[in-house]
Amino acid sequence: MNDQGGATISRGLRAALSAASEDGIIYDLAGIAGRYATLVEELPGVAVRFAMKACPVDEVLAHLAAQGAGFDAASPNEIAQAVRTGVPAGRIHYGNTVKSDRSIAEAYRLGVRDFATDSLEDVEAIAAHAPGSRVFCRLATSGEGALWGLSQKFGCSGADALLVLEAARRAGLTPAGLSVHVGSQQMTTEAWQDAFERIGEVLVALAAGGILLDHVNLGGGLPALGYLDRRGNPLDPPLDKMFAVIREGVERLRDLAGSELGLVMEPGRYLVADQGAIKAHVARLSSREQLDGERRHWLYLSCGKFNGLYEMDELQYRLVFPSHPDGEYVPAVVAGPSCDSDDAYDHEHSRVQVPSTVASGDPVWILSAGAYAGSYMTQGFNGFDPLPHRSVRGEPVGAR
Ligand SMILES: *Cc1c(COP(=O)(O)O)cnc(C)c1O
Repeated sequence: MNDQGGATISRGLRAALSAASEDGIIYDLAGIAGRYATLVEELPGVAVRFAMKACPVDEVLAHLAAQGAGFDAASPNEIAQAVRTGVPAGRIHYGNTVKSDRSIAEAYRLGVRDFATDSLEDVEAIAAHAPGSRVFCRLATSGEGALWGLSQKFGCSGADALLVLEAARRAGLTPAGLSVHVGSQQMTTEAWQDAFERIGEVLVALAAGGILLDHVNLGGGLPALGYLDRRGNPLDPPLDKMFAVIREGVERLRDLAGSELGLVMEPGRYLVADQGAIKAHVARLSSREQLDGERRHWLYLSCGKFNGLYEMDELQYRLVFPSHPDGEYVPAVVAGPSCDSDDAYDHEHSRVQVPSTVASGDPVWILSAGAYAGSYMTQGFNGFDPLPHRSVRGEPVGAR
């Protein structure tokens, strides 16, 4: 099977992809539970707060909740969805530093008592609309080394964090923690090391002011393993080293704090990306002479940036052509079906090996598409419907 570099697909997922007659995203619940088990084995004692935006699908959330996960929610609607899985509100935090008064009040009404923050204005609003709650302050990171940096918009300096958590205490809130996000699909261990240094300095300064925190929150950023980079080379994140750096870093922080600091993480991508795949089909394989005089093949798929492949700006997905297990291949630029030229892989640099005889309607499996594919989807841009989704538990279960 042309799996381009040997990404593995579980048997259940493979069976469901083979059986699917219509386009859609399929999630492998057993695979997601497997990733969760690996995470809690590698980081003993970690409290997992799944970042819902990566995969806000009820059965995925319920399955994670059943394993022991809680949720990192970013809005009242996400909080309400998390509550519907049956987890106690104590396992849900409001992890978005951007919140209106109304959103804070609604979260409080839904039972949430843990809030991310990064500014005095936000602390004042939490004290007013969620009185007596616990807050954790997000420290800024550079986002270097990540495919998507998440820098600038969130997080404050260490000096600001002191002011923010002191203000929280004065306002009757509990200064409970510090958080970071090293950037999504972080590829380096250095980013985690930097984060620990930054957190350590602030912990020491806080302790000097009599503020003792009960946890650190290392956010998301743990990588998926099955992506290709923009040019089609496998991304090979040093996951084992990252886990080792995190274990050591947390120990150092506990020494510095002189207390049993709890560890929270908010993985999104790591838990679900490799456990979901899209069943799509070929719209057309064509060849055109371009303005630069070069003749290029283009493979147009039934889905693209606006219905499932939003992240094609920074990566390529592994493609499988199950009806063409072997034969001749041609290098092609891969693109979605819409009338938008952003709806394509990096045309300058990327070529994907595509069976030369694929025809319109042939199935294509798009691997490692379990994170963000379902949530970053337009309302039928150009009339191309958002992809429906379903899940399998090792064996295919009913469609939704
Ligand atoms: C998006 C997000 C996450 C998840 O990030 P991943 O890179 O998918 O792990 C975690 N925490 C916060 C606050 C986020 O915004």
